[in-house]
Amino acid sequence: MPARLFRSANGDRNRFVTLYYGIVFSLLLAAAMFLYEARVIVQDNLRDEEAFAVLGAATWVLHDLESAETGQRGFLLTGNESYLNPYRQGMNDLDGALLRLKQIVGVDPDSLEVVRRIEQVKTEKVAELTRTVELARAGQCRAAIALVQTDEGRRYMDTLRLDLGQLLDVWRQRRRSATRDAQERIQLETAALAVTAVLVCALMLYALFVQRRAFARMRAWSDVLDRQAAQDPLTGLPNRRRLLAAIAALTEHAGPARVALLYMDIDGFKRVNDALGHSSGDALLCRLAEALRGATREADVLARVGGDEFVLLVKDCGDDSQLRDLAGRLIGCVRSAGERDYSGRFPVGVSVGIATFPDRVQSVEELLDVADAAMYIAKRIGRSTYFFGSSPEPRCAEILCPSSDGAELNE
Ligand code: GH3
Ligand code: MG
Repeated sequence: MPARLFRSANGDRNRFVTLYYGIVFSLLLAAAMFLYEARVIVQDNLRDEEAFAVLGAATWVLHDLESAETGQRGFLLTGNESYLNPYRQGMNDLDGALLRLKQIVGVDPDSLEVVRRIEQVKTEKVAELTRTVELARAGQCRAAIALVQTDEGRRYMDTLRLDLGQLLDVWRQRRRSATRDAQERIQLETAALAVTAVLVCALMLYALFVQRRAFARMRAWSDVLDRQAAQDPLTGLPNRRRLLAAIAALTEHAGPARVALLYMDIDGFKRVNDALGHSSGDALLCRLAEALRGATREADVLARVGGDEFVLLVKDCGDDSQLRDLAGRLIGCVRSAGERDYSGRFPVGVSVGIATFPDRVQSVEELLDVADAAMYIAKRIGRSTYFFGSSPEPRCAEILCPSSDGAELNE
């Protein structure tokens, strides 16, 4: 389970990194696409403006030609000099308008060709107009009208209208296509922007979800590690580290209650190991741990601190008679577990050293050492018994005369 938890937390972390790369890549891709499209739209606008300018210039050329012709006709028909004003105006502006048209279409060879043709026909039309006006001014109105009646001038104008019309058609078409292209691109960009925004939001939401899940898994994994670091892997009981933490915590919540620490070492455990093997010894340790746990209160801390050594930390332990009862119960349950398991072939018991705070030791930090020393005394005075230790340690002579059910030699 912990390994799977670690793997899935790790997998989430990788997924999270991949998602962020995905988001960055999507944003870069979108930015590149927007830049490209924006450039094309600007070019479309330029094309539109260019077409607009060509249309304007071509219209001016036609307008100047028509003004000149209208003025010529009016003058020929009436002899009135004022008709020559539009004629002169048209003739004056015509070259400038044509030059502008030529410059604007300059980049397009087909249009330039048409403009050159227009220029040629315009020269002939202008010559025809000039000739008729000069004849009229010289008093040869009939000759001038006869020249007009040859339809030469009309043919020139027809050709000019045709060419200018063709030019206008081409550039109108270009303008339409530039505008349409720009509109389509703007629509496409808007749709792409919406899709990118939705995609990035979705990716970010998923990344957030994965990140939260990864953090939760990491936290669970770290809790597992913490638990493992404080647990004896064989019996599942708290280990020495956890016990020391529980003892240290006593100082933080120091109250009036009396605290006892019972240090236990199994008697005759090695024989099981030697005779039946290490795994049988392990199994016995587990059963003894269970038996001890069954004989103690849930609130008390039962820890395995070494090979066959267990410690019980009893908060609010009551008086010594209650502790004696407890020690007797512990010895009894270990004994019966040994008898039950091996039908008496490997009798096991437990020697218990007891230290109590604040009466027998001055500080809770001393509890473990004093109880450990008391346990060795219990071993020496006969095993499967208990001994109340205190600080300072009891004298040797006192240790050699224990009571039968347990001992308290330092009082
Ligand atoms: P005593 O009565 O004096 O306490 O002696 P004992 O036979 O109980 O042996 P002792 O306490 O001196 O030594 C405990 C032995 O437990 C030593 C070691 O080989 C064995 N041991 C330590 N850890 C483990 C363990 O995790 N599993 C098993 N099966 N044996 C262990
Ligand atoms: Mg032992």
